[in-house]
Amino acid sequence: MRNLDGKIALVTGASSGIGAATAARLAEAGAKVGIAARRVRKLEDLKASIERKGGEALVIDMDVVDPDSVQAGVAQLVDSLGPIDILVNNAGLMPLSDIDRFKVDEWHRMVDVNVKGLLNTTAAVLPGMIERHSGHIFNMSSIAGRKVFKGLSVYCATKHAVTAFSDGLRMEVGQKHNIRVTCIQPGAVATELYDHITDPGYRQQMDELASQMTFLKGEDIGDTIVFAAQAPAHVDVAELFVLPTEQG
Ligand code: NDP
Repeated sequence: MRNLDGKIALVTGASSGIGAATAARLAEAGAKVGIAARRVRKLEDLKASIERKGGEALVIDMDVVDPDSVQAGVAQLVDSLGPIDILVNNAGLMPLSDIDRFKVDEWHRMVDVNVKGLLNTTAAVLPGMIERHSGHIFNMSSIAGRKVFKGLSVYCATKHAVTAFSDGLRMEVGQKHNIRVTCIQPGAVATELYDHITDPGYRQQMDELASQMTFLKGEDIGDTIVFAAQAPAHVDVAELFVLPTEQG
């Protein structure tokens, strides 16, 4: 189905994993996609792949932690393709470690990207949606935004923040501004996310988890996003909790 024809989407963290797959799926469904991240070479490859399948994509060099970079990227997309209908707040990272290892830089990085980055892009895109009284915002939370796991304290704190913000945002902008908000909560997805784990114990734990079950693919999450985006305008799929079948 291609009922996203004519829609403009912005996907953050589109250079790999869930973001890249989601951008590709949105393009297949007819949307023109702004693909944003810091690794521009990877975005160029994704753009070429989307265009080979007849889609349209715009590469945006964006660091979600930097509000100026976010504002400039959003302006570039609006100027090039038009006002944004769909925002996928996906950029994030998960360097796991025990609190008593005091990897404080990694704690700050998770808060900066997973929470403040998501707020930066929301602040940059929402005014245009309010003005047009229409739009759809997807926020990438996690199973870690529903329950807490040992070793994931800070990551869980950031993803609980995303879940809470999504709920509050939906209450504030749904009725008043006709904007839909969907909070996505995936279980384990096979992506580069686990590469950022610097703690050897947790890295091994994640490798073991991967050997015990078939992880989701980024495309599985992209498909759920397209499903919610294609729902009739009066339907807000507020939450999607998507797990590998074998994940307890
Ligand atoms: P990846 O590591 O493959 O993707 C992370 C993306 O975030 C990359 O494209 C990276 O791009 C981008 N990113 C990181 N920092 C910044 C920044 N400062 N500015 C802009 N972009 C940034 O992992 P996933 O695809 O798995 O992760 C995507 C989201 O899904 C994350 O929010 C993650 O927490 C969430 N999630 C993942 C799960 C999993 O099991 N994989 C499960 C549940 C949720 P670049 O480095 O080029 O800037």
